[in-house]
Amino acid sequence: MNAQQIIDIENKHTSGTYAKQPLVIVRGKGALLFDANGEEYLDCSSGHGVANLGHAHPKVAEAIYKQANTLITLFESFPNDQRATLMEKITSLVDGLDRVFFCNSGTEAVEAALKFSRISTGRKNVVAAMRAFHGRTFGSLSATFNKKYREGFEPLVPGFSHVAYNNIEALDKAVTNETAAVILEMVQGEGGVYPANAEYVQAARRICDERGALFIVDEIQTGFGRTGKMFAIQHFGVTPDLLTCAKSLAGGVPMGAVLIGHNVKNLTPGVHGSTFGGNPLACAAAVAALTAIEEEDLAGQAAAKGKYLMDKLKKIESPNIREVRGMGLMIGIEMKQKVVPYIRELQDLHIIALNAGMTVVRLLPPLVITYQQIDHLVDVLSEVLTKNLVSEEN
Ligand SMILES: *Cc1c(COP(=O)(O)O)cnc(C)c1O
Repeated sequence: MNAQQIIDIENKHTSGTYAKQPLVIVRGKGALLFDANGEEYLDCSSGHGVANLGHAHPKVAEAIYKQANTLITLFESFPNDQRATLMEKITSLVDGLDRVFFCNSGTEAVEAALKFSRISTGRKNVVAAMRAFHGRTFGSLSATFNKKYREGFEPLVPGFSHVAYNNIEALDKAVTNETAAVILEMVQGEGGVYPANAEYVQAARRICDERGALFIVDEIQTGFGRTGKMFAIQHFGVTPDLLTCAKSLAGGVPMGAVLIGHNVKNLTPGVHGSTFGGNPLACAAAVAALTAIEEEDLAGQAAAKGKYLMDKLKKIESPNIREVRGMGLMIGIEMKQKVVPYIRELQDLHIIALNAGMTVVRLLPPLVITYQQIDHLVDVLSEVLTKNLVSEEN
């Protein structure tokens, strides 16, 4: 099959829910992706933040191979060596969260955290933030703000409200004695790369404690070193009651998890479950991934490389750039115009970047990206972002 045949087949049989790129990717190594003709691309998307460890990490590959030859599937009612190892490891990454629920994706982790909040508190209401993205199944979609994701799917789950992000007063007003949980991202990813400030996160913790609500932190995009700490909440000295993670947890193998604190109650057999959750294959991949993230100090690398990249981006002089912001290697470049033509131009120059909303170019490179690759990225961005590109769509 040549590249055009592959594209044609996908276009014919796709559900239609994805805007397909005219680019067939067949292989990856570190921060690089390769197309069907062997052409090289610098990946600044990491599959939306999945490939923190880079592509085809040898330790993850080896763990998957070994475990595939040992035991792939096992329901969580039966204990297993790989799962036990992962449970110990993942709960050791953050203080105060000693239990864990395993699932298979980000949205499932959010669903679990929302269900746990209701069963634990006996309350119904959930307060989320404007611009928030928490996933696309009905519970997490109800916590997601943007009407682009919600429209056409109503009625959503009742009890959800949205307040301005980084606004303590608004949160204080919205959380009542009937609130089951507050759910927040530590850097709003899809919403435009907006980092939380420390006072806000600390106030959220205090407000939840005062009213008996649980504090859910969604670290699905910010987790596992991305922002310069293992979890972004660790920048703020706050412990949540529930922490959702997924994306890079198992080095690219689908897996989600909810870390659970002492305030969460009533999690008894049968309350929730998942057929594939905690399967030994994903657990073995996650053990290898988390071990490599620690051994290679990817959080430290994200902090150093993020600062290096951010400093260089701030020096780009372009009338098109409104603001550069972010945390670690999660960076948004807010433009004064629509970014789709810029993303396209970058792709023509073999840089794969993401948008976040209409006007933000989002950079989520693998944390193993080299300084040389960062320099190249900055050179290309300096050229492309100073051009005046106009969206063809309107
Ligand atoms: C990606 C993401 C999700 C949803 O994860 P899926 O695995 O796509 O279901 C939820 N929350 C945040 C913050 C995310 O970035």
